[in-house]
Amino acid sequence: PRITVAVVGRPNVGKSTLFNRLVGKRLALVDDQPGVTRDRREGEGHLGDLVFRIVDTAGLEHAADGSLQARMRAQTEAAIAEADVVLFMVDARAGLTADDERFADLVRRSARPVILVANKAEGRAASTMAYEAYSLGLGDPMPISSEHGEGLGDLYDALVPFF
Ligand code: GDP
Ligand code: MG
Repeated sequence: PRITVAVVGRPNVGKSTLFNRLVGKRLALVDDQPGVTRDRREGEGHLGDLVFRIVDTAGLEHAADGSLQARMRAQTEAAIAEADVVLFMVDARAGLTADDERFADLVRRSARPVILVANKAEGRAASTMAYEAYSLGLGDPMPISSEHGEGLGDLYDALVPFF
């Protein structure tokens, strides 16, 4: 694939759920770099006729030593640095948190193109979140549901210009 997409956001917003949906069974490899990205995963993502390299990020689960914040930051920064486009994900049901702001800062400062997705927006969740998420300064939030596969047509439309 020519294009690398990084899925970035605080833990528990649904990044891996989207990654799994887009990669399906085509998971290419598990990257195991001690001290930095022990559970970073990448694979070949498919959405309609688009094929891309997709990088999932995690950051929390294996922070056995060292500063948690530093590890989250290093892993996310590495993924952002190699991305052609960043999918920045927030949780439409939870509202914005301080961690959302922190990760958004990294993305903003990278000056990489960003698609802001508000996940867990199945049904009618997320209309109030839309205003909140706009304040991140990353553009208009796109409601999606990784779990239920909703909003992926809009995501497709947003990705097409990068190909
Ligand atoms: P990550 O830490 O950002 O990778 O988040 P995960 O993909 O592990 O998901 C965290 C939790 O959110 C899990 O319990 C998922 O089942 C749930 N989740 C993920 N996507 C959705 C969604 O679209 N809607 C709802 N309601 N829950 C979701
Ligand atoms: Mg995850």
